[in-house]
Amino acid sequence: MIHLRSDAEIASIGRGGSIIGSLFALLAERVVPGVSTGELDRISEDFIRSHEGAIPAFQGLYGFPGAVCISVNEEIVHGIPKPDRRLSEGDIVSVDVGVKLDGWCSDSAWTFPVGRVDAAVEALLRHTEAALDAAVAAAVVGHHVGDIGAAVVQSVKGTGLGIVRDLVGHGVGRDVHEEPQVPNVGRPGYGPPLRAGMVLAIEPMLSLGTDRIRTLDDRWTVVTADGSRSAHFEHTVAVTETGPRILTGAGIQAQAGANTGLSTP
Ligand code: MG
Ligand code: MG
Repeated sequence: MIHLRSDAEIASIGRGGSIIGSLFALLAERVVPGVSTGELDRISEDFIRSHEGAIPAFQGLYGFPGAVCISVNEEIVHGIPKPDRRLSEGDIVSVDVGVKLDGWCSDSAWTFPVGRVDAAVEALLRHTEAALDAAVAAAVVGHHVGDIGAAVVQSVKGTGLGIVRDLVGHGVGRDVHEEPQVPNVGRPGYGPPLRAGMVLAIEPMLSLGTDRIRTLDDRWTVVTADGSRSAHFEHTVAVTETGPRILTGAGIQAQAGANTGLSTP
């Protein structure tokens, strides 16, 4: 069932979502060579819990052992934070965060450069963020879910980057994962119609190589099948009569631009 949320409910989701936006602004400063993914996990959990009533929504979800998912380089999603996994100059690290506050979930991911990254990786980050912007812009009343994936395809066209198609976005609300699925490859006019009140996690994942994936023996970490690097940008977005409303923003876009020289939306 696809839920339609009231303005008040959307505002509630946005209260948790803004915590993630603020966390990403903090992480943009804390992601430096030498930091471990375990330390980034602890920083994230402490920051989320410093907001009264807020909890990390991924902690324990389906048995996940971390507070947030932290995926390095060829890892696409669901990386398990580890105290001995230290980041090096030139790495990229994707942090995927869920927050639950007052019974409402929000979900957002951002890929950070560790120090200076090479030009191909910088382009991967820029194009993935641009794909998210294009996908969000397509989340309007009158479109269908397929228009969102079509916008990703159109945005990525000509870049030579792979679009990870076996992992999808989703509805967000009382649970982190609700209907409908939101594929990153779609056709305009296909899929469920977008209606005011739908709240969707839109989350393109691109790679420098293949679009194919595999799961590591830890049964969590999803990597690119060819070991190429991957980026992941995600916002929780409300479809409204006045257009798409990002509920997980606040701070990170300007911060990322300031740190990396990437364009700001
Ligand atoms: Mg996520
Ligand atoms: Mg998600």
